[in-house]
Amino acid sequence: MATGHLLTEDLNIPNTFGPSSRPMDSSRILFELMQLSHQADEARRQNGQADMLEDVISKSILRRLLSALHFRDAATVNHSRRVAKLSVGIAQFLSWEGQPLKLLEVAGLLHDIGKIGVPDNILFKPGRLNPDEAGLMALHYNISLDVLQACRVDRGVLEIISQSHTHYNGATDGFRRIGSDVHQGARILAVADAYDSLSMDKVYREKKTHEEIMEILHAESGTQFDGNIVRALSRWIDTNGLPFQTEKSEPVANQAQMTPVDHEETLRASSLGNVFSYLYILESLYDGFYLVDADRHYRIWNRGAERLLGQRATTVLNQTWDENQFEMISKFGDPLPEEERPLRRIFETGKATTSEIQIQQTNGSWIPVELQSVPVVDDNGLVIGVAEIFRDLSRTGTCSEYRELKLAACRDSLTSVANRGSLETQLAMLITEFSESSLPEPFSAIFLDIDHFKQINDTFGHSIGDQVLIEIARLLQHETYSGELVGRFGGEEFMILCPATNLDQAQRRAERLRLAICAADIAELDDFSVSASFGVAQSEPGDSVESIIRRADTALYASKEGGRNRTTTLTTAEMIEQNSTAKEQKRSADAMRFQTVLHACVASDIVIYKLGGFVDDHRASLREVTSERVVIRIGSRGILPFWGGSDRTRPVEMELEFGDRITKTRRRSKEASSRVEIQVRIRPIGIARNREAFQARAKRVLHALREYLVAD
Ligand code: GH3
Ligand code: MG
Ligand code: MG
Repeated sequence: MATGHLLTEDLNIPNTFGPSSRPMDSSRILFELMQLSHQADEARRQNGQADMLEDVISKSILRRLLSALHFRDAATVNHSRRVAKLSVGIAQFLSWEGQPLKLLEVAGLLHDIGKIGVPDNILFKPGRLNPDEAGLMALHYNISLDVLQACRVDRGVLEIISQSHTHYNGATDGFRRIGSDVHQGARILAVADAYDSLSMDKVYREKKTHEEIMEILHAESGTQFDGNIVRALSRWIDTNGLPFQTEKSEPVANQAQMTPVDHEETLRASSLGNVFSYLYILESLYDGFYLVDADRHYRIWNRGAERLLGQRATTVLNQTWDENQFEMISKFGDPLPEEERPLRRIFETGKATTSEIQIQQTNGSWIPVELQSVPVVDDNGLVIGVAEIFRDLSRTGTCSEYRELKLAACRDSLTSVANRGSLETQLAMLITEFSESSLPEPFSAIFLDIDHFKQINDTFGHSIGDQVLIEIARLLQHETYSGELVGRFGGEEFMILCPATNLDQAQRRAERLRLAICAADIAELDDFSVSASFGVAQSEPGDSVESIIRRADTALYASKEGGRNRTTTLTTAEMIEQNSTAKEQKRSADAMRFQTVLHACVASDIVIYKLGGFVDDHRASLREVTSERVVIRIGSRGILPFWGGSDRTRPVEMELEFGDRITKTRRRSKEASSRVEIQVRIRPIGIARNREAFQARAKRVLHALREYLVAD
């Protein structure tokens, strides 16, 4: 269909090169990060003693970070709050007080902050992570450290967080025996974190009781956990009772305090989200990076840089960059004069560069690396910092290529929720888990399709249509629980996978989403309220990806048929029943069908008039009248009270098809012109059982009809 209208005509693309039109590229994102870092400095300077956590972290920064985390995954905020509380409880039991307690509390609150940057298909995977995914998930520890470094958080907090997971994090540091060389705060945090995780339901396992958890912690004492701390936790709980009994049944307790309160804050949370996603890319695809500010002070020195360049963050942070920080030569082995160092040049030119160089390892050997130097430019075009990003060329590329593919392959580019491919992959995994489990717990799929979306496009333009899709995706993401996967199935269709959710629960959830869409002022469309229709299906034995999708889709179709903006559920049994009822009706109607030919001895133009008499006398209803065809339904009155048994009131449908005028010219008889050949077909409506009885009744109907049409 040619529309004569390019989609892009509706897009209002800025065409000036003012300061605000700088692209949302890595430089821009690094600018956001640098801003955050400056705000942290500023808040520290201004708040001084007024800020309770003044010497650990600025309160406003803490609030911003937790808001952003809440925006992304409210459950993790609640987990973090419980871990902070547990950690402080244990520490107080061990007679901690003052500053170290504050450090520990902040570490507890922020230990999972990097999860903001982990892509949905891993963070919200409705199933156990496979080893590759677990490796990608573990990157959130590094992201936390990057952000907390930039936010000028007290070193004590960084130490606690970085050491608390070294022993868990096989992917980067290998299994390590927890010992006295590890910060005691880190040992406490590790125990508190494990306690709280085990006490919550996970998609792939049920929550454990206090006794079960203590058994696990004791069993791992001396290896994964510090036995003294596990015993302290045990005694603390014996003294104070089980923690958070009420909060667990109320998973979003104290939400008001954490919810981003206004549009601006939501925007800030989402721009912080971009920063975290970018750090995730740096952590997953590259081998190391650091960030320096306008004064060339190091603001971030990530774990990769520690490994690659052989220096600890603690010694480098806040130092001034100088060319002798680490040894660097050209890729051909020539010395690099000072003025040719990319970082030095970038402060002069403001342009990003890539160079291949060699750097010296602590053992003296040289390795080839690719070095990307990215300027951080402010709104006035001034270079206010530089990020240098390293890729180790001596390593084979397979690992990062795999990760690259994985990243690109999972998200929908318009809405950034999961795409159809990852929905189907997750669905397949849920099905496998469901079919292999000895005590299978059902999961559900919620399918939704925006109502009259074409009209939105036609009325407001395609770009507003896109905006609606983005806002709906965001709303769905916000309204669903951690562990559920929201994805765009295609066009204006979305799907939500809900692990450990039966049909009833899923229906309630769908209704909640439906009402939330109705209540939200999506894209602020004048005189148009956006709604969606929902179809819900639950996993059943023998299901395949296709069968679940088909069931949810059929249910969705029923919602559309029923008038839209509603939710329909469907089980396989109902589907079979509906199918078989329809088939049975057709089969029985076919078997019953009575068929004959009548020759009406009246002029063809008065056949219809005569039929009118029949319809009136037998209280029939005309379904269709054309010059070729008439369809009549005859109910329980007139000739049909004679219908026997349970079929007494069942109506029949009679179809009359008039032969065309050729009949007249073919026939040679004198009255040929006044005869019309009529095909008569009579069938029961619904399921009739007794063929003989039906045929007899049909003959009776035919007989009555003949009196009108055939008699002179
Ligand atoms: P119904 O209530 O029956 O679902 O009606 P509808 O108009 O929503 O459904 P229909 O399938 O007729 O139209 C869907 C429209 O969605 C047609 C297509 O142009 C539009 N569409 C699909 N993908 C996109 C997209 O990415 N952006 C925009 N703006 N429109 C899209
Ligand atoms: Mg559609
Ligand atoms: Mg639609």
